[in-house]
Amino acid sequence: MLIKFRTDKKGVKISGAKDMPPMPASLGLMNWNKTSSWRNLKPIIDYEKCIDCFICWKFCPEPAIKIVDERPVIDYDFCKGCMLCAEECPKDAIATEVEGK
Ligand code: SF4
Ligand code: SF4
Repeated sequence: MLIKFRTDKKGVKISGAKDMPPMPASLGLMNWNKTSSWRNLKPIIDYEKCIDCFICWKFCPEPAIKIVDERPVIDYDFCKGCMLCAEECPKDAIATEVEGK
């Protein structure tokens, strides 16, 4: 599959979900492997800040972010706490909690 990104003089430019590949990183057999026991950091979505761009869904390396009623929802059975979602969120809408505190 050919993936096209918009580019400028500085290189690849990703400005939103429209510039991303059409599917999340999480595919296939990952659905069998619940990775929540690895987690020591826990992402929490702030729905007041969230603009439903689904960049978090596209970057999540596990099948841990579902789209429910057109909003991103974290499935903590699969979330391993890598915090890629928080890193990539353009609105800083995903907070980090230390697991178990
Ligand atoms: S949490 Fe952030 S990255 Fe995820 S949909 Fe909301 S604004 Fe986009
Ligand atoms: S921390 Fe975020 S990106 Fe990482 S597995 Fe959990 S939901 Fe996915």
